[in-house]
Amino acid sequence: MKILVFGAHPDDVELSVGGIVARHAALGHAVEICDLTAGEMGSNGTPEIRMEEGRRAAAILGAKARHNLGLPDAFLQPDREALLKTAALVRQVRPDIVLAPWHRDSHPDHEAASVIVTRACHLAGLHKFPVPGQPHRPRRLFYYFLGRAEKPTVLINIDAYWDAKIQAVKAHASQFAPPSQGARPTLLNRERFFEDYALRFRAWGREIGCTYAEALVSLRQIEAQDITAI
Ligand SMILES: [Zn+2]
Repeated sequence: MKILVFGAHPDDVELSVGGIVARHAALGHAVEICDLTAGEMGSNGTPEIRMEEGRRAAAILGAKARHNLGLPDAFLQPDREALLKTAALVRQVRPDIVLAPWHRDSHPDHEAASVIVTRACHLAGLHKFPVPGQPHRPRRLFYYFLGRAEKPTVLINIDAYWDAKIQAVKAHASQFAPPSQGARPTLLNRERFFEDYALRFRAWGREIGCTYAEALVSLRQIEAQDITAI
């Protein structure tokens, strides 16, 4: 299967679904990542540094490719440019499954990214939509949580991929340099970040009897021919 995972900023995918990316890549699926912006409004790091960190993180997770659409950080909107670029990538990659941020979040870019990806997945399937390539509509769209978590539809055991996920998150070294070394203080570079960060995944893990899990939401009902296949 082909899986395309969208994030608004260069570390969103690792932080939220790095374990799912690593797990499905290890299972032999073609997983690609797309960052909508280069994260140029981030308090620390430059777009060039962040691009390189993102490439390293993608390699750690086993992702096949990492794309960047160059949309404006902090000004992300479901406007014409965003929809055209995102739909063009959907037609190019032709994913079976797409992951996107959940539409309620503390960061407006995450909310905008959710709307952009949802619309683009639909628009990419319209024959006359003015982007290159044959029409394509992903079979399924799942959402993941960044700032704020709600009730998930699916929990995925990532115990075997937790270390890879943390390594991929830490590959974004510019975001984790401590203020004592001159970096601007943020949510990510505070002292006990990693300790607190693990709690959400531990809580989801506990619900399904493992140590760490990542969560997804489907807004559509999930159909099944056979309950043993779920
Ligand atoms: Zn973000």
